[in-house]
Amino acid sequence: MSVRPVLETRNATPHLEGAGVHLHRAFGFQDPSELDPFLLFDDFRNEDPNQFEKGFPWHPHRGIETITYVLNGEVDHGDSLGNTGTLGAGDVQWMTAGSGILHQEMPRGNAKGQMHGFQLWANLPSSLKMTAPRYQDVEGKDIPEIIDDDGTRVKVIVGAFWGKSGPVDGIAADPQYLDIYVPPGVTKTLPVDTYRRAFAYVFEGAGQFVDASQPEGVLLEKEIAGREVHMRDMSGNRTLVRFGTGDSVTVQAGPEGVRFLLISGAPIQEPVAWHGPIVMNTQAELQQAFSDLRRGTFIQPV
Ligand code: FE
Repeated sequence: MSVRPVLETRNATPHLEGAGVHLHRAFGFQDPSELDPFLLFDDFRNEDPNQFEKGFPWHPHRGIETITYVLNGEVDHGDSLGNTGTLGAGDVQWMTAGSGILHQEMPRGNAKGQMHGFQLWANLPSSLKMTAPRYQDVEGKDIPEIIDDDGTRVKVIVGAFWGKSGPVDGIAADPQYLDIYVPPGVTKTLPVDTYRRAFAYVFEGAGQFVDASQPEGVLLEKEIAGREVHMRDMSGNRTLVRFGTGDSVTVQAGPEGVRFLLISGAPIQEPVAWHGPIVMNTQAELQQAFSDLRRGTFIQPV
């Protein structure tokens, strides 16, 4: 086993998106090779409906997939092809925008006005940028959860892990998307295939991810010298952990336990031409997309 080193930890930063949604961005609109095949990660946790209810009204996407995971509250969505629905707590929507979609995403809080969810953008390779749009809507009850003897819980949203497979399929970036809780004081080693680019996003509790310099195998508490990634603030913990290469990550949970997403995928390694919600390979393809938008031919007939 070779533990992946922690290359960097970084707090998600406040951003205003859509029609006035206050969210936190862990990465996005920077060097797209850094976490290839992933382009962007937003955390929309908020307890003030005024800061999220204006939502994300009609906007286009082309050339990417957007993955929405709702933890609390609901997100109403609708698109120009007539698809509509509501994502509730625990639900996932994996949207392959492909050749083009125009849609809106409108967060609604729960009865207490609280909203929490994540949106990840995954790139599509050139061969699939103009593929037909596709939705995979998954209810929380259909997401397998594995509970280990030490109390570690893993929800397998996408990909295969510890013998279970997530319900989303057929994704170009071959991603693995896991929601992991490690109980207080437990040290856990989690496999991540070597060919994947990987990051964690810590959103509850505290923990330390162990660096590659640590001894292999089971670690005693006194041997743990991983980096503290917990940064407590008024609204909780929002820390990106970017990993180097290896075949596992090891985390030690703090006294409150730690909950994080562990997301990995195969790098696409192609040129990226990116403007707003449209991500292509070349500037000419980007110009074509915006020309299609102006001419009203953005969406292919289905
Ligand atoms: Fe969108």
